[in-house]
Amino acid sequence: MGEKYGYSNETFCELVEVVTSHGFPMVISHQCSDLLEFVTQREAVMTRKGNTNKNEAAQNIRTNKVVSFHYRLREVDSGGCHGEWRERSYGGEPLLYLHGYHNVIVGLEKALEGKKIGDKIEITLPPDQAYGSRDPEGLRRIPIKHLRYQRGEKKVKPGMMAAVETSQGVRPVVVLKTGKFSADVDFNHPLAGKTLFYEVEVVSIREATMDEITHGHVHGRGGHQH
Ligand code: ZN
Repeated sequence: MGEKYGYSNETFCELVEVVTSHGFPMVISHQCSDLLEFVTQREAVMTRKGNTNKNEAAQNIRTNKVVSFHYRLREVDSGGCHGEWRERSYGGEPLLYLHGYHNVIVGLEKALEGKKIGDKIEITLPPDQAYGSRDPEGLRRIPIKHLRYQRGEKKVKPGMMAAVETSQGVRPVVVLKTGKFSADVDFNHPLAGKTLFYEVEVVSIREATMDEITHGHVHGRGGHQH
């Protein structure tokens, strides 16, 4: 299928992974089965490009804009109560993504559509608009020697983040329990199954390059370096 459209699956599945403070990528990955939708989107964009009025909403967020934004987020419990701020980009680099390619969670991408630099959004997203529901299959017992730890940790401990090499590449996991030779880990995103409240502020908007559009992700500083 990939070859039919001139993209290898490998290229298509390559993703921008914006690693957030908890060490997990912010990005929701495309599945290869999304290829058709991707190509259709691209064609629509190419067609639209021909009759774009340059003065019209030049700096509004839409497909093929590279957008950077600051955000902070907290969980909302089933009673609607907000927890502590759990994650933030303020004080660091804003997140950078290519709009229209599901490189950020779906609810945020929708909310950012049409926004301008300096616009602020406050939005509550249920799991299906954010990191999805929790998958019980994500709980696994694996040999400790297959775990890679982050940031100079010496020993595997419950609660810590680690990485595991899988047939789909390196995946982040949360360590739940450790034994002598094996560990119970959770492949679910730590924010899976959670309703999230986001505050977002648009920092910059620019046109994507043709290369970025072809790859479906941002290149250069804050994006893919290749
Ligand atoms: Zn690329």
